Amino acid sequence: MDFEKIKKFVKEKNLPSYRIGQIRKAVYESAIENWDEATTLPASLRALLKKEINILSFKTEVIQSSKRDAVFKALLKLADGNFIETVLMKPAKTWSVCVSSQAGCPLGCAFCATGKMGFKRNLTSEEISDQVLFWHQFISKKKLGERVSNVVFMGMGEPLLNYVEVVKAIKTISDPDFIGIGQRHISISTAGIADKFFKLAHDLPQINLALSLHNADDNERSRLIPVGKKFNLETIKENLEEYIKLTGREVFIEYTVIDGLNNLPAHIRKLGKWINSFKDHYLLHVNLIACNPAVGKATATGDAAVKKFADALRGTNINVSIRKSMGSDISAACGQLAGKIYSNRRKK
Ligand code: SF4
Repeated sequence: MDFEKIKKFVKEKNLPSYRIGQIRKAVYESAIENWDEATTLPASLRALLKKEINILSFKTEVIQSSKRDAVFKALLKLADGNFIETVLMKPAKTWSVCVSSQAGCPLGCAFCATGKMGFKRNLTSEEISDQVLFWHQFISKKKLGERVSNVVFMGMGEPLLNYVEVVKAIKTISDPDFIGIGQRHISISTAGIADKFFKLAHDLPQINLALSLHNADDNERSRLIPVGKKFNLETIKENLEEYIKLTGREVFIEYTVIDGLNNLPAHIRKLGKWINSFKDHYLLHVNLIACNPAVGKATATGDAAVKKFADALRGTNINVSIRKSMGSDISAACGQLAGKIYSNRRKK
């Protein structure tokens, strides 16, 4: 919900200004799904709101739940008919939401189902922050306990190619008057749009930044992530060093281990060399993720191959974690979000 619409509505209808606070509480604290549930408001006002304002900017098409993990995935239909997906997951004790920032994605990474569906359009800040509000309502309705604690921009799209709306959405998500998730609990994952790092450090110095690296060899990386031709590893490094200098924050290096493709000894050596060449290399933390079969020739990578990779990297003095991939049985894991449109195409 774009709360500015509520402020305008209250003014236009000549309602007392305290109604703004009541509506805010009903939407963000009570997590109402429709205006009938806003029982602190008079019936006449509820009827008016129902007629004029939607709480969410999209409709729910389907919600799937994983049989293996605490993961839910929703397919949402935007007002213009485009589809996006968003994921709710509980990797530890708290709920995290994975949001999409674009319908589709223009970057076409080789291992990613979203990339294969092409680019439809950028999402508005309202459509982005509403994904968090949507799961906030879901948790409340299903009595799943706890609120959403973390938000990751790892869904459909490249967040730094929709910079203005993403920054606006993060301000709403982190505003204590609205959803109120601290910026240190919000992460942006980028394929390496390095010319935005400096601005990001100024605009949102508290958030977490994750770089999808997946290969530390420029030629090989560009085959996986074509935008690597525009922003090569040297450019990414220069801009990341500046980002780290300005924020003092740890940066996460995401590396999907694709067995036989990017986990050979030469890959490990190059990755170790690249990370150790940073001035503040101790502020880089590698997250290894086992490949999920989404598209193309990639096959699932076994735990043993990922562990071997992690051990070898640790031997070069690098901070490494193995991230558990969740929700692959409902195509909700990294690189698997594609939306209904792509699913339909695949069926043809
Ligand atoms: S991995 Fe991210 S940046 Fe690459 S195509 Fe998929 S959504 Fe786009």
